[in-house]
Amino acid sequence: MKRLVVVLLAALFIPFSSASTHVNPDYTGEILNLITEELLNGYIQTLQDFGPRVTGQQACFDAGTYLYNEFQSYGYEVRFINWSSGNYADRNVEAVLPGATNESVIICAHFDSVPTSPGADDNGSGTAAVLAAARALSEYKDEISLEYTIRFVTFSGEEEGLLGSYQYVSAAKESDMNIVAVLNADMIGYTHTEEGRENVVVYRRDNSDWIANMAATVSAEYSLGLTVQEYSAGASSDHWPFLQYGYDAVFFHEYEFNEYYHSEGDTIDHMDLEYDMRVTRLVVGTLIKIAEVEITDTEPPEVSIEKPGNYLYIADREIAPMKNTVIIGKITLQVQAHDTLSGIARVELYVDDEQKAELTHEPYEWVWDEPSFFMHTVTAVARDNTGNIAEDAITAMIFNL
Ligand SMILES: [Zn+2]
Repeated sequence: MKRLVVVLLAALFIPFSSASTHVNPDYTGEILNLITEELLNGYIQTLQDFGPRVTGQQACFDAGTYLYNEFQSYGYEVRFINWSSGNYADRNVEAVLPGATNESVIICAHFDSVPTSPGADDNGSGTAAVLAAARALSEYKDEISLEYTIRFVTFSGEEEGLLGSYQYVSAAKESDMNIVAVLNADMIGYTHTEEGRENVVVYRRDNSDWIANMAATVSAEYSLGLTVQEYSAGASSDHWPFLQYGYDAVFFHEYEFNEYYHSEGDTIDHMDLEYDMRVTRLVVGTLIKIAEVEITDTEPPEVSIEKPGNYLYIADREIAPMKNTVIIGKITLQVQAHDTLSGIARVELYVDDEQKAELTHEPYEWVWDEPSFFMHTVTAVARDNTGNIAEDAITAMIFNL
């Protein structure tokens, strides 16, 4: 039995017209466009206004609460992670966007500052990048397919010796958290020359070189105007504990070091928000590239009804070849469906216009055993995991009391 496999136009198939057949486009560009100077300005100004966010003190505590509430308002599951080390105690804040696996990609930054500084660039800028990533991704979480779980993590205790991040990494190691990549952002919003505006530093080690390379690709692909300068990573920020524990981590940093570093002058008016926006887009674009499965399946699946064929069937048994399909009694409908790229999501079976079965696993079978007479159309609709659909249909003469 051979029949043509009919590729279906969604518009012609009324019960499914609401289900799109479009293929996942590349949403990364759209997500990055949600990251604007205005958005970052709001985050950094808010963080600066807490005053110096010194670990263990009220302003740092309040900033942590602010971060928690922001993440939560975007619909994420959020948690405080309390830590203590020596004379210090504070909390990290983590929000999670689940992917297909619990292997994780981490975007992180410290939100504490030194006592003398409002900490706009160090590190309101990195913290704003983590918030912006969380917010932009939350608006596309139904459209994108994430292979990896994304963890948005903000640390305190950085200025006292990477205390919050050390605590986080040792707990991650203890719980066997599978971390694919770590993107740390610290001081990403300052320039003072044209050269500064055209470059960004990515500190990496041999094991994390691939992340730096990916960032360079992202810069070119999304026209961010940033040349990635790769330097060997040292212990200067929160990527370091991750490297120490063997994880693939990088640290994004401005190309021209902020002259107001750790001073009262580290304020938003001394930053270059246009540059800050481009570096933030670079970090977030790299994050998405790592975490997202690029599904490029534009091919419809293959589907065919294997049984019934052109036979006489009695009580589900094949009796004799016929010019048409004739069924007496019940019949088991058997369907073959394949999709090599994204896989079969489900097969739906219809008798005339009525859906009888929805099958998500092989074998795609259903016993048609209900009072039926004369001619009926049996249709199998297969749908792949990117929404492409195809159908096969037969007509059968049936007599079933
Ligand atoms: Zn810093």
